[in-house]
Amino acid sequence: MTLKDRADAVLAGLDGIRSELEDFYKDLHAHPELGHQEHRTATRVAERLRNYGYQVHERIGGTGMVGVLANGAGPTVLLRADMDALPVHEETGLPYASTADSTDASGRQVPVAHACGHDMHVTCLLGAARLMAAGARSWQGTLLVLFQPAEEPGDGADRMLTEGLTDRVPHPDVAFAQHVLPYPAGEVGTRAGSFLSAADNIKITVYGRGAHGSAPQAAIDPVVMASMIVVRLQTIVSRELAATQPVVVTVGSVQTGTSGNVIPESAELLVNVRTYDEDTRRAVLAAVRRIVKAECDASGATREPRIEEGTRFPPTVNDEAVTREVSTAFATAFGERAGTVELQGASEDFSRIPDAFGIPYTYWALGCIDPDTYQAARQRGTVAQDIPVNHSPRFAPVLQPTLDTGVQALVAAAFTRLAMPNHASP
Ligand code: ZN
Ligand code: ZN
Repeated sequence: MTLKDRADAVLAGLDGIRSELEDFYKDLHAHPELGHQEHRTATRVAERLRNYGYQVHERIGGTGMVGVLANGAGPTVLLRADMDALPVHEETGLPYASTADSTDASGRQVPVAHACGHDMHVTCLLGAARLMAAGARSWQGTLLVLFQPAEEPGDGADRMLTEGLTDRVPHPDVAFAQHVLPYPAGEVGTRAGSFLSAADNIKITVYGRGAHGSAPQAAIDPVVMASMIVVRLQTIVSRELAATQPVVVTVGSVQTGTSGNVIPESAELLVNVRTYDEDTRRAVLAAVRRIVKAECDASGATREPRIEEGTRFPPTVNDEAVTREVSTAFATAFGERAGTVELQGASEDFSRIPDAFGIPYTYWALGCIDPDTYQAARQRGTVAQDIPVNHSPRFAPVLQPTLDTGVQALVAAAFTRLAMPNHASP
């Protein structure tokens, strides 16, 4: 039996569980939970994993869990899904749309929706977990299915690690994860090397000297300082880096002053930096610091600016060899529906898990937009305008063929590493 035959033997069970999986997805979509609050989701996942025969390690990093299926000697493969939703008011008009709300970490009442599609990741992984358990005669080794909390706030993987993930489960040899992205449903997209950016959030406070709006001679104006910083930061990408370097520096917020006739005491800027490798990241962050300090000096500020590093996401850099194997398996499984995807601007915390284990990984894109809708928008040249992207209140993955494809992709990827069963004929 070839690798594909063995994966197909496992996937033959998909027809029998499809409608149950679809119901699970709709229920999850209607009951989204914010990061670190995924209690209902985690309980429902754990209960099913136990039924499938997994040993379930719960409450690793709050609601995080790992199901372990030990199936004889062989490699250990980790498959990961994130579980959390977003503080977004859903406007998809779907019959199973969320009307949920919740209290966020800062105590605010917010609407909640699965606007990033993590409900699809959970359902696909649950489907793959069930099929792999039912088809355990077709493979040998150990399968870890990891359900991670709080990807959106960026600290879910970290919390699983600080609560001993690497000591609590068997050491995996390779890790795989997927994410729904606005490409045609039924398609999967791999990419060797850089896939997602690293993200750094920085809070900058500059201090001047407040005075009457009529008396600039008595003031050190933080409004001007902040304005110069915003403009000057643009020169990092345009003047300090090669045109071939994909880097983003965004000032997303400037807060200062309350009145036209008062020069305020200070100004606060929130900056977001996206890079794809550690050297560039360090260089860009150093440039931000240099510019902020120099602009404060240029204005004659007597107090040093405060530069605080906030949430940080690592880069997602797919292992070349692992990605090649998975791409080959996808080409065999999906034919023309498998391809290469372009570099993505978003960020993820998945890579912290394989990095902590010291193992290679690959992460791929799972298309989720109705193919006809996508094709029509492509023909009009209006994909960017007409196809709602992740985090949009209108982001609405089509249930099928997204779900089937996601399950198939996870199984196909797992089979690139798992061993042939001893009893199988060659
Ligand atoms: Zn997201
Ligand atoms: Zn996401």
